Amino acid sequence: MAAQEEKKSGFMNWYFGSNLLFRILIGLVLGAVVGMFLAFSPEFAGPFVAYTRFFGDIFVRLLRMIVVPVIFFSLIVGAASITVQQLGRVGVKIFIYYLATTAVAVSIGLLLATVFDPGAGLNIAGNAAVQGKTATPPPFSQVLLNIVPNNPLESLAKGDVLPIIFFALIFGIALSVLRSSQNSVLASGATKLFELCQTVAETMYLLVHGIMQYAPVGVFVLIAMVFAQQGAKVIGPLVFVTFLCYIGFVAHVIILYGGVLTFNKLSFAKFVRGGWEAPITAFVTRSSNATLPISLRVTEENLGVPRSVSSFSLPIGATVNMDGTAVYLAVCAIFIGNAVGHPLTGEHMATLTILATLGSIGAAGVPGAGAIMMLMVLEGVGLPVTAGSAVAACYAMILGIDALLDMGRTCLNVTGDLVGAVVVSKSEKQLDLSKW
Ligand code: ASP
Repeated sequence: MAAQEEKKSGFMNWYFGSNLLFRILIGLVLGAVVGMFLAFSPEFAGPFVAYTRFFGDIFVRLLRMIVVPVIFFSLIVGAASITVQQLGRVGVKIFIYYLATTAVAVSIGLLLATVFDPGAGLNIAGNAAVQGKTATPPPFSQVLLNIVPNNPLESLAKGDVLPIIFFALIFGIALSVLRSSQNSVLASGATKLFELCQTVAETMYLLVHGIMQYAPVGVFVLIAMVFAQQGAKVIGPLVFVTFLCYIGFVAHVIILYGGVLTFNKLSFAKFVRGGWEAPITAFVTRSSNATLPISLRVTEENLGVPRSVSSFSLPIGATVNMDGTAVYLAVCAIFIGNAVGHPLTGEHMATLTILATLGSIGAAGVPGAGAIMMLMVLEGVGLPVTAGSAVAACYAMILGIDALLDMGRTCLNVTGDLVGAVVVSKSEKQLDLSKW
């Protein structure tokens, strides 16, 4: 009995004492191996998913639980710590960075798909059983209008990121004005409120630390479930399109992010060492939003980004900056065109560039959002997903492996946000270079 107790505490000691990256990687590899095994043994896959889903879902829930308070309080503190001019400058720079990197992502996707022609010669036929679907984007004016909340408490309760950002930003600015008020009562009250927000934000970061201790288990279950349910489907014509998307993701990271960091005299290896927790969390949760607490923590603690930049750029990035989604939209639209025997023309490619950029901006930071945007992109390039059509059959195929594609694209989406926060801080001379 005593020996058993000792063994247990030995395991716990090992668990909490060993490197987190190492533990998460074990979870990842074991999850993939077990999932692949289950993919080819469907009789075990069902019970496995049924019994373990809880342990994966709880990891995602823990992260999502903390998203709203983290964004809200970090952003108030961030906005109250810098001047309005500085905030404006950071905003302009980050938007230019987001747009430029998304344009490069679309180009990489187009280039790869044009050179390797995925889906050519597949001749997919229509299937009467497949339902049609369409998606039309809301008018731009509505998108802008939705940024201003009707009621901030409602937005907080619903977790609507953009209205929360908007309200926290103006709240933080007003708080910083009050802190330097001539009225000493107001000034001291505002300072106390600022310190309170700072303490709440720090408490949230501490919770993130704790949640990550559970990550290896969550990662194992989430990865095993994805592979068990989808692994076998990638074998066949879809293997190539999956492979091309991943080549695009990796190329984007190495060429663009590696290039941008090197250009800014920052080491790519140190970036990976400091930031890895965020892309891995993105990979398994398939949600930029759910990864936000981790992104905010690693950029501040390990990469030396000040809260005034990270609290602003990362939540916006998680909502609008999606380079991985842009690569995916470009590659898969060309794949579907080829597979149904209607390869995209030059004119369609130009439309695709614009639509893939808009689609990546419009996709929410939640699992599967990119696949909804794909409907809009296909419609725009003359391949509407109508009931029973070959396009619908092809779309259904891609949807069948969406989880696998989503893991890679979300990982890239989040990595792009981290790089953006780092380089904009550097250009503002606010990056803590001692971390590099
Ligand atoms: N899941 C992605 C994200 O959260 C969005 C997408 O589906 O493309 O960043």
